[in-house]
Amino acid sequence: MDIKNNILETIGNTPLIRLNKITRDLPCQVVAKVDYFNPGNSIKDRMALKMLEVAEAEGKLKPGGTIIECTSGNTGMGLALAAVVKGYKCIFVTTDKQSKEKADILKAVGAEVIVCPANVAPDDPKSYYSVAKRLAKEVPNSYHFNQYDNLANRLAHYETTGPEIWEQTEGKITHLVCTAGTGGTVTGTAQFLKEKNKDIQIWAIDVYGSLLTKYFNTGEIDENEVYPYISEGFGEDFIPANYDMSVIDKFEQVTDKDGAVMARKLAKEEGLFCGYSAGSCIQGLMQLKGSLKPDDLVVCIFHDHGSRYVGKIYNDQWMMERGFLDVKSFKDIVNGRP
Ligand code: PMP
Repeated sequence: MDIKNNILETIGNTPLIRLNKITRDLPCQVVAKVDYFNPGNSIKDRMALKMLEVAEAEGKLKPGGTIIECTSGNTGMGLALAAVVKGYKCIFVTTDKQSKEKADILKAVGAEVIVCPANVAPDDPKSYYSVAKRLAKEVPNSYHFNQYDNLANRLAHYETTGPEIWEQTEGKITHLVCTAGTGGTVTGTAQFLKEKNKDIQIWAIDVYGSLLTKYFNTGEIDENEVYPYISEGFGEDFIPANYDMSVIDKFEQVTDKDGAVMARKLAKEEGLFCGYSAGSCIQGLMQLKGSLKPDDLVVCIFHDHGSRYVGKIYNDQWMMERGFLDVKSFKDIVNGRP
């Protein structure tokens, strides 16, 4: 019989799907690793399970313990699923910038969610980083996973995402394009792929307002370049320990508007209803298309599902209020014109 023992056994082995229309102007094949096929609807299920297994093995998480984590939702979902199966409690600390749907989903799987202001410095006592640290001290038998600096994050991608892409492309991948936040996905996947073939180009996609690109290009941490952005799940205002910049070849920044518009296009043209960062990933690739050749095989990673953004990028009013959808197109949509 082919029966999974629990939901955690369905994590990983996600499909690689060819993009047929949205990248038609590119000279080469482009495929997407669509990780919303994971049970928590995002790639973060992979690292959540790995962080939990490592914490158990190292004795940092004890039976009946409480998982504490800063999460915009996707890591929380992965941890919550694993916690339900393995018998732990979860307290997640998130920011008021994240979609309400994400917090509601976490509550649905039994987690407690604490919302903190987004636009404060990481060392501010009100920041979600500081609140998580404080809770880890106050809550008995708890462990703060810290996905930013916990190297089990990138290890999950070194052990699963990288090998899957290598096998699915029969080693023919020439470029990996991936949005970067904690750096776990891009670094772990790249570490594996570069070991197999050092010529594979790794392009990390970032957002304007994040300091990652400037740091990559100059080695400087320039806080003057950091400002609030609307894109969700990627970009960073510090450099998490999960980064190994030596396996990344290029960083490219995308605007909030371009990423959102591209995500909507992806749904309409490919039937891939993905999150904000998948749109930004494709937008970043488009900005870099000049360096692609006909024999290239580009793999884009799509981190999560569009259902978490129905009140945001998939909502016309929300898009129009931010100037992401012009008023004329909005009126056309309201009047039912194409
Ligand atoms: N996109 C989404 C939707 C995410 O949740 C994340 C994780 N924060 C990323 C992209 C970036 O992945 P990573 O943290 O592994 O760099």
